[in-house]
Amino acid sequence: MEKYGVAIIGAGIVGASLFSELARKGVKVVMLEKSADVSDGSTKANSGIVHAGYDPIPGTLKAKFNIRGSQIYPSMCQRLGVGICQCGTLVVANESGREALEQLLHRGIENGVSGLRIIEREELHEMEPNLADNIDIALFAPTGAVISPYLVCIALAEEGVVNGGVAKLNFEVNRIEKVNDSYILGNGTEQVEADFVINCAGVNANTINAMVGAPTFDTHYVKGEYLLLDKSQNGFVNRPIFPLPTKAGKGILATPTLHGNIMLGPTAIPCEPNDTTVDAEGIAIIKEKIKLSVKEPNYKKVIKLFAGVRVVSGDDFVIDKLPNSHFYYTVGICSPGLTAAPAIAEYLCEKLVADGMEVSVHKFVPRTPYVTTNDLSKKQLKELIKKDASFGKIVCRCEKITEGEVVEALNSPLHPTTVDGIKRRMRPTMGRCQGGFCLPKLIKIMSRELDVPEEEITLHGNKSEILAKDKD
Ligand SMILES: Cc1cc2nc3c(=O)[nH]c(=O)nc-3n(C[C@H](O)[C@H](O)[C@H](O)COP(=O)(O)OP(=O)(O)OC[C@H]3O[C@@H](n4cnc5c(N)ncnc54)[C@H](O)[C@@H]3O)c2cc1C
Repeated sequence: MEKYGVAIIGAGIVGASLFSELARKGVKVVMLEKSADVSDGSTKANSGIVHAGYDPIPGTLKAKFNIRGSQIYPSMCQRLGVGICQCGTLVVANESGREALEQLLHRGIENGVSGLRIIEREELHEMEPNLADNIDIALFAPTGAVISPYLVCIALAEEGVVNGGVAKLNFEVNRIEKVNDSYILGNGTEQVEADFVINCAGVNANTINAMVGAPTFDTHYVKGEYLLLDKSQNGFVNRPIFPLPTKAGKGILATPTLHGNIMLGPTAIPCEPNDTTVDAEGIAIIKEKIKLSVKEPNYKKVIKLFAGVRVVSGDDFVIDKLPNSHFYYTVGICSPGLTAAPAIAEYLCEKLVADGMEVSVHKFVPRTPYVTTNDLSKKQLKELIKKDASFGKIVCRCEKITEGEVVEALNSPLHPTTVDGIKRRMRPTMGRCQGGFCLPKLIKIMSRELDVPEEEITLHGNKSEILAKDKD
């Protein structure tokens, strides 16, 4: 049985941030993820916004880690070689919302957010021509940004791996045993041993805590549904546009995605932990509420409906350890958890060092960003095709993704084996046709490269085969 300094349970943005943080410090770390790929929980389906930090109540963990996280993101994305669009964010209102906006401004200043200002009607409508006519003012937060949440998570996990960390996918921790000074974590067929265990299991955090007798918390689950519009709608809004927040959350927003789509949502519907369905009621809520902020979007251009689930525990994050142990837990990491994750990782790492975690001298190995042909000049692309003709063979027409890029994704440090894994790295099937044209080609390439029959290629792992097996 392999022995590690630290075992992280869960490879969402919190687990992956910590994994990278520890591996870069030379810690012998393993990250255990139940799914076939990282970023398969809340991290894959959210608004993708690095929040500036005007929203959380001052003094809370949410406020502290939101602010620090938003400071870390720009340099972290540069280090990882992934995109970030520092477009700022707007909370919009009509004149009757001025007092509430000013309160938000003061809360932001108290939290330490820089550059916040109230923008008046003329300037505002010049910045965002598609705002609803009755919008008069906005709070502009220039430090707000847009990222691709799953790409950041994947890049952090890859960075952890290239710096010596071990990521075990399809490893669902279902048993933790304390033996002398260490923990044995098992999935029924395999075990690993670690001095420290960090629970980053998102909606399953209580189940993991219960395995070691750590406290469990009152939690509830809230579904957020979205409509995604085709890239032809790029420019409908230039930055995330929020309505005034309410007790139910930040409200239904319109936002550009990092890759040039427009996203509308999310709803906030109480749900079961893994309910990511989208229904007519949710769509109707989005269509009704979005009118508060922007003009009517072109709903004929909707290409995808999807949902993510937030786990909520009281009003704040819970980040703590079981007394007299080396077991740490993160519970209720709802919004702004994506923003806060790198700061939570930094904090946990400091706690672990103070608690005796072994750190060794380590020379940082940078992650190699993917070659994406869309980012190359014609000359660069020609040269690449000369070296490797597969970069000249288009697989996904909507997103212009080549066979070379698919193969590159398959050979990337986490060795994804699912269609969703390739999709989240390189974007085939993410475009207007949603895989109608490219999925068969993708399956063929994956089957050839992974040396498995086409019928065994899955969408997202276990029991999600795409093709029917021949009955013979
Ligand atoms: C609709 C919506 C919109 C949001 N928008 C934003 C936003 O714009 N900005 C922002 O900052 N935040 C946002 N958030 C919050 C953010 O998405 C979450 O806070 C964040 O993704 C939580 O990350 P996590 O790593 O804690 O959990 P997860 O991403 O859920 O990761 C937990 C992982 O643990 C794994 N796991 C579970 N049980 C086990 C087990 N037994 N063994 C092994 N692995 C296990 C899961 O498979 C999963 O991969 C939003 C959330 C939602 C739902």
